[in-house]
Amino acid sequence: MLDSSVQYIKGIGPKKAELLRAEAGIETVEDLLYYIPRRYLDRSSLKPIGSLGVGEIATIVATVENISIAGSRRKFLDVIVGDGSGILHVVFFGGIHFLHKMFSPGDTLLFSGRVDFFKTRQMVHPEFDFIDSDSRIASIHAGRIVPLYPSSEKLRAAGFDSRGFRRVMRTAIDSFANEITEMLPSEMMRDYGLPSLREAIISLHFPETFDDAERARRRLAFNELFFMQCYLAFARKKLREKTQKRDNSVKTEVLKKFLARLPFELTNDQKKAIEEIKNSMNEPFPMNRMLQGDVGAGKTVVAMAASLLAVSRGEQAAVMAPTEILAAQHYATFARFIADDARVELLTGSTKKSRREEILKGCMKGEIDILVGTHALIQRDVAFSNLGLIIIDEQHRFGVRQRALLREKGNSPDLLVMTATPIPRSLSLTLYGDLDLTIIREKPSSRIPVKTYLFPESKKQGVYNSIRKYVLQKHQVYYVLPLIDESEKLDLKSATEAYEELKQIFPEFSIALLHGKMPQDRKDAIMSDFKDGAIDILVSTSVIEVGVDVPNATVMVVQHAERFGLSQLHQLRGRVGRGSEQSFCVYMHPDDISSEALERLKILEKTSDGFVIAEEDLKIRGAGELIGTRQHGYGNLEFSDLSKDIDLIIKARKEAREIIESADDIHTVGFDFRQLAGRFPFLAGIRSKRILAILS
Ligand code: ADP
Ligand code: MG
Repeated sequence: MLDSSVQYIKGIGPKKAELLRAEAGIETVEDLLYYIPRRYLDRSSLKPIGSLGVGEIATIVATVENISIAGSRRKFLDVIVGDGSGILHVVFFGGIHFLHKMFSPGDTLLFSGRVDFFKTRQMVHPEFDFIDSDSRIASIHAGRIVPLYPSSEKLRAAGFDSRGFRRVMRTAIDSFANEITEMLPSEMMRDYGLPSLREAIISLHFPETFDDAERARRRLAFNELFFMQCYLAFARKKLREKTQKRDNSVKTEVLKKFLARLPFELTNDQKKAIEEIKNSMNEPFPMNRMLQGDVGAGKTVVAMAASLLAVSRGEQAAVMAPTEILAAQHYATFARFIADDARVELLTGSTKKSRREEILKGCMKGEIDILVGTHALIQRDVAFSNLGLIIIDEQHRFGVRQRALLREKGNSPDLLVMTATPIPRSLSLTLYGDLDLTIIREKPSSRIPVKTYLFPESKKQGVYNSIRKYVLQKHQVYYVLPLIDESEKLDLKSATEAYEELKQIFPEFSIALLHGKMPQDRKDAIMSDFKDGAIDILVSTSVIEVGVDVPNATVMVVQHAERFGLSQLHQLRGRVGRGSEQSFCVYMHPDDISSEALERLKILEKTSDGFVIAEEDLKIRGAGELIGTRQHGYGNLEFSDLSKDIDLIIKARKEAREIIESADDIHTVGFDFRQLAGRFPFLAGIRSKRILAILS
């Protein structure tokens, strides 16, 4: 049985079983079968040593003839191996003594590597594997594409190096593969050209070709993505079922007046966004929507429109932002544009006690239509008479719990979360698959594109000259340093040093330092001084508040741009270019930057489309890095590669939504959901047991 302990596999006793559990989380036969090779080596053709040419990458099988430590200045281990057709030197520069003990004359091994020439033909640090010398070359180790498995020192000591894993894998597959049953409808797999589960598992470990291995990966990735999408579809369905249906639709007269009053014409994307939101709000179940748009895309107007729609049917709206300064900025905008149509108030941590009491009362009585604020909104004593819409700006800055707390203050309110971090579609659909997505891609045409430059450190003086020029014209400058880890003293030191240096260079200007270690109120105070124009140059670690609007800041200088992700660099660039004058963004990098890293940065010169940049980032750095989150449980997507599996994600989502929407519960979905769930014990931060509990 697949769920038997691995102990039932020949060659694994209780001790080894315990080790596999502790070191690799492998308990059952099935766990073992799902143990993913870290990569594959092409050993499909073996070559006699005599035929090897210099520069060739080859796999050979040879016997150790002599082992010695050689070299005078730099010691190395010199292993001479032969196969009857010739001899070859296998050379190791590291781990000499350890390796010395490992090899003995007479051992037969397989070596894969590049043939070099240094006095004689040699391979330096090849991949190697011991071959059981008593048998013919075991066909699982050579003469084919072979998997390399992740291992650990303890596992290796117990014989579980790649070779050991291959051996037990062969046994496990020979004895258990026929028990692997398809858990998904096989027509679905056929439609998508994916192999059966059994084929996939066999090819995962013993592929005939690299294509086979990739097909196997995609099949297993599909399982994973399909499961995730089922979960999301279930969550979406449950939410809709749980909530009270609403039947009064929104009215648009006030909205129309508001739009007519705006000093600008909405972009098409803004119009589309408002339309989508309106339609969602008119559905009988609550809206659950994410609004994505680059900085400066004009999300605030959309938020105001949504709020007015809620107010039009007698509901209240709550707008929550992550910082005081952002909340204050939103409040000012709301008050300016819609004060005639609705009563808007601001509630933050620094709202005076008496004022706060007034606001709470007004809110509870329903006299306040729109309450803008910070986390202060979720405090226990804040109550609404009829909260119908929740808008959360910079939603990634809030936790799930905080969102839930605000939600509980209403009766199945509509939810609109906003983010200025464009993320690739594959990520949106995986991370936020339970949300509907509205994207504002087009920026207001009144925007003057930011001019972007890449400069090596050696051009620093020129950058300083430009800074001086713009500050003398009364413009303001952001000067940003990388912060790898906020706890690192070093980073703070480099920010402080840069700050001191700039003070020396520009004694005539007002310069301030902002960093993550400061208390929030201090940060707010500095930001608001900057906003008021009291600071010329703001030196900062990458904590500059997203969304803060300082139109007079026209220069952004980023030091060590090579240390940031592209999306982050693009975010920083979004801090400028918010006013009516030409803005500049300068990314500085070391003179000796690698050409690869430089190419990467050049993407920023070429495009200012946050979505394009995010896609590039995903390709280069992977999903976890991109959103800077392990909390989403990405590490648990074992087989999927979000940078290339978008087609699978879309298919999985389509199938999952169709199946789940039409099923009554998990027993009638038409596939064994429990079996599928059992394979993903921990996905998206949610235990499968809990998922099953929610679903059944
Ligand atoms: P973000 O999407 O980053 O939150 P904002 O909503 O703060 O962007 O908008 C940035 C600026 O663009 C604001 O000053 C806003 O008034 C202006 N704006 C928004 N929509 C338009 C438009 N359609 N045409 C011109 N300016 C606009
Ligand atoms: Mg904003």
